[in-house]
Amino acid sequence: MVHCDIEKAMDKLKLKNIRVTPQRFAVLEYLYTYPGHPTVEEIYKALVDKYPNLSVTTVYNNLRVFKKLGLVKELTFGDASRRYDAVTTEHYHVVCSICGIMHDVEFLEPQQIKEYVEQKTNFTIAQYRLELQGICPDCAKEGRQLPTG
Ligand SMILES: [Zn+2]
Ligand SMILES: [Zn+2]
Repeated sequence: MVHCDIEKAMDKLKLKNIRVTPQRFAVLEYLYTYPGHPTVEEIYKALVDKYPNLSVTTVYNNLRVFKKLGLVKELTFGDASRRYDAVTTEHYHVVCSICGIMHDVEFLEPQQIKEYVEQKTNFTIAQYRLELQGICPDCAKEGRQLPTG
């Protein structure tokens, strides 16, 4: 597993004098415990029962604060959807082509691939992203199919 440390994140917030409200903590905790790289809407839906005052805007604003402090990474996609990743070091993802859930995978050292590509191409690689796409166990169990066409 790729690890992320919520205690360290809390320390960073305190260090920057950012007040950790129960809602803010809940958003952070969700990001750090749910492995699916949630969207703003997914975080909102997961927490609104427990925090009825929560709004999508609050979730979004919290994510912005976390992003600024380097506590989460925002992953953008072609269809303009965004997912949030609490693991901010380089790593790989496996993505469900049906529901979009995304998990981290430990694989070859990202650094090795970077060096290999730099040697082969003389490019200086600044950042990279590797995604393996497929069908997640939940979608497979439900018999969901990939949309055709
Ligand atoms: Zn799925
Ligand atoms: Zn990730």
